[in-house]
Amino acid sequence: MDHLDKLENKSIHILREAYSEFNNLSMLWSIGKDSTVMLWLARKAFFGHVPFPLVHIDTDYMIPKMIEHRDKLAKKWELDMIYGQDEKSLEENMTYPEGNVDHQECCRRLKAEALKNTLNGNWKRYRMNHETGEYEVDDNTKPYTGVIVGARADEEGSRSKERYFSPRDENNDWDISDQPPEFWSQYKTDFAPGTHVRIHPLLDWTELDIWEYIQREEIPIVDLYYDQGEGKRYRSLGCAPCTEPVESDAKNVDEVVEELKNGKFADVAERDGRAQDQDEGAGLEDLRKDGYM
Ligand code: SF4
Repeated sequence: MDHLDKLENKSIHILREAYSEFNNLSMLWSIGKDSTVMLWLARKAFFGHVPFPLVHIDTDYMIPKMIEHRDKLAKKWELDMIYGQDEKSLEENMTYPEGNVDHQECCRRLKAEALKNTLNGNWKRYRMNHETGEYEVDDNTKPYTGVIVGARADEEGSRSKERYFSPRDENNDWDISDQPPEFWSQYKTDFAPGTHVRIHPLLDWTELDIWEYIQREEIPIVDLYYDQGEGKRYRSLGCAPCTEPVESDAKNVDEVVEELKNGKFADVAERDGRAQDQDEGAGLEDLRKDGYM
C-alpha cells in the first residue's frame, strides 16, 4: 500500500466504526476540499450510498458557488442533505459584515451556535426534497449525537488536540485535558449518556495528501480552488467577507499539487488568508470549545 492507500484505509475504518457504534450519526459538509474528500471516502466505505445525513451550516455569507456545488452534488449523489442557520442573528443583522458585532461574536453566532442548535434539533433544519430539488423544514428534530467532521491535525493548533473520537459534554463543551487515549487503532466509542462525539477520519491527512487524493481519485471539487484567469484562487473556503483568495495561477489539480510541493506555498500554512483566524484573542480553540468545527 502506498501512503494514500494507508490514509484511505484508516479513514474508511473510522467511518465504518462510527456507523456501527452511533445510532444518530451525521456528517458535516462544509463544501470545502477536506470535507468533500471525506464525503468521497464515505461513499467508498458504504459502496456508493452514504447512510447518514450530510449537514451544512450555512452562515448566509458563503461564496455563492459553494452553495451551487453543494446542491449539484447532493442531487447527483442522492445525498440526504440538510442545512441549518442562525436565522435570528441574520434577521437582526447581528453579524460582522453588517458591522454590528466583531469577528469572534459573528462566528460564535453563525457557526458555533448554529451548529449546536442544528445538531441538537432546537433550531429548524432544512432537508432537501429530492423530488422537487428544494429544501423543506425537516420534521425530524432528533439530536445527532455522533458527528463526523473533516478536521485535519495540521490545519492549526486547536485541531491537533482532537482525538479520532472526541467527546463533548451535554453542553457541547470540549475538555481538552480529559480525552480518552487512542492507541493502536483502538477507539473509545462508549461514552456517558448525553455525550456528543465528534469523529475525525481525516486527522492524519495533510493539505498535500488531500490534493494528491483529489488528483488520484478525480474528485469533483468547487472550481474556486483554481485560478479562473485572474491570477487568484482560494486555498481555503469560507464566508466571502472573511476569506481572501491567494495569488496563484494554478488552474487545475496538477498545478495545485505542484505548487504545494515545490512552489510558493510549500512552506506557507493553509489558513493564512482567513481573517477570523487572525483576530486578536479570537482563538479558534475558544470557538472550538463552543462548538465551532
Ligand atoms: S467567517 Fe466572517 S461572516 Fe462568517 S461567521 Fe465568521 S465573522 Fe461572520
